[in-house]
Amino acid sequence: MPLLSSEPQINPSIDYSVVIPFYNEETNVKPVLEELRPVLEKEAGRFEIVLVNDGSSDGTLDQLKACIRDWSTARIIDLVQNSGQGAALMVGIKNCRGKKIILLDGDGQNDPGDIPKALQLLARFDFVVGHRVNRHDDLKRRLMSQFANFVRRVFTNDGVSDTGCGLKGFDRQVIDAFIPIQTLYSFMPALAKAAGFTIAEFPVNHRPRRSGIAKYNLRVFLWRPALDLLGVCWFSRRRSRRVQARQIGAESVGANR
Ligand code: UDP
Ligand code: MG
Repeated sequence: MPLLSSEPQINPSIDYSVVIPFYNEETNVKPVLEELRPVLEKEAGRFEIVLVNDGSSDGTLDQLKACIRDWSTARIIDLVQNSGQGAALMVGIKNCRGKKIILLDGDGQNDPGDIPKALQLLARFDFVVGHRVNRHDDLKRRLMSQFANFVRRVFTNDGVSDTGCGLKGFDRQVIDAFIPIQTLYSFMPALAKAAGFTIAEFPVNHRPRRSGIAKYNLRVFLWRPALDLLGVCWFSRRRSRRVQARQIGAESVGANR
């Protein structure tokens, strides 16, 4: 099987791509996709689905293969080994072809019914992120999340309440603002804002994990983002902002005869 290139391919006839990472989610694949499908098929616009298997060691890949058999707009990107949610998202994003991109978790905690809201907001903003107003995680997890959100907001000034929400959407131009760090999902709004893109958050539904286990413990949840926070703060302050430019003169290729 050929290895994928990381060159983004644009297909202007695809309005939006939905990217979902899965790591050991064998019991969640089918219900998540069965819930997603009618929502997308009702929505106006052409879409594609990019399902990233992040080197799962259970039956996730087989489940994904079974699900795309009768779904021609869906395809799988299979990471040879577990590389982490940030890397899985980056590979998925870099390989999708839509004008806009929607991200969703593969454990069923996000409600696909919130996707139409995200798409509507994307008509006015470059980057949108859900805010889980009624969070369904245990107390320890909610407290860790509140603390992490507070620290991140103070340092990055991204103005976002809940970057851990898996439901996010953005214009494909925003891809250039991202850097391949392990905790990219937490810093997407900060990186987008630092590059000069507009951001909005919107309330979303949140459900308990259907099955399977959460992949984040204290070390992964607090220590990793703390290190990445330092880098993102430096990068966001020092980076050059988005440059808008025009080309003058026709595009042609010279040939010597
Ligand atoms: N995930 C992944 N690779 C990993 C860890 C997680 O692709 O190494 C996926 C996981 O399958 C899920 C999403 O990232 O679809 C969020 O993970 P999880 O639900 O464990 O995080 P939480 O909801 O607890 O923040
Ligand atoms: Mg989850």
